[in-house]
Amino acid sequence: MPLAAVRLFEAATREGVVLIPYRMDRNPRLRHLRIVIDESNQVVLKTPPRVSDRQAIRFLNENADWVMQRLQQRPSTPSLLDYLRSSQRLSLAGRWRPITFYFRARRPSFDLDDPEEVALFLDTQRDRELQLRWLLIEIAKRTLPQRVEYFSRRHRLKAHGVGVRDQRSRWGSCSETGGLSLNWRLILLPPRLQDHIILHELAHLQHFDHSRAFYKLLNQLDPHSAKHSEELTDWSYRVMGLARNLLQVAS
Ligand SMILES: [Zn+2]
Repeated sequence: MPLAAVRLFEAATREGVVLIPYRMDRNPRLRHLRIVIDESNQVVLKTPPRVSDRQAIRFLNENADWVMQRLQQRPSTPSLLDYLRSSQRLSLAGRWRPITFYFRARRPSFDLDDPEEVALFLDTQRDRELQLRWLLIEIAKRTLPQRVEYFSRRHRLKAHGVGVRDQRSRWGSCSETGGLSLNWRLILLPPRLQDHIILHELAHLQHFDHSRAFYKLLNQLDPHSAKHSEELTDWSYRVMGLARNLLQVAS
């Protein structure tokens, strides 16, 4: 799901005014408006073609109490800011880089020029989680394709384009036409695991399956492949749910 698809709606609920992130899913096969809270705690407004945005948003507002109730019943994930404040690093170009946060009254941005740190500038006036998520996705878009390029050259496996996305459960995928799709959360993984996933997807350029030949190649590219894939399970629990449950009560 691209970041642009996430919008906020301001709902008057019994608990006051609440900002709720949602995405609109327009589907030609739908006949009625529906609100779904998906497995990653995201509100999805399922909208048939004949219904206008306005009507759909009104429907969402009318059902705000129901949405709030549902969201509160779900287990919450730690905030991205809390997570990064304790981990204090991102994985870029094959190594960890420490993060420094700067809070100021200006639009959010980042700076990767200093090889010893990643500077994240957050606007004190806006929702920190949304900004942070946006910044990390931008950093992932900047750095992950470079890492793919690095391994591409080294192993002569040419991908046809690299996309960075917000997948719910997968780390990456390779299309039949050789396009790679990577989860932005790869920059939260240890460098060796980020590389492992990139190499896994690059190996699919030669073997479009999980055959023995595929694993043989993957083992050549990443000699600790089995260990890395085992380590990934734990990391997936920790990281995959981050920045899903974006909810903020406005004062
Ligand atoms: Zn695979």
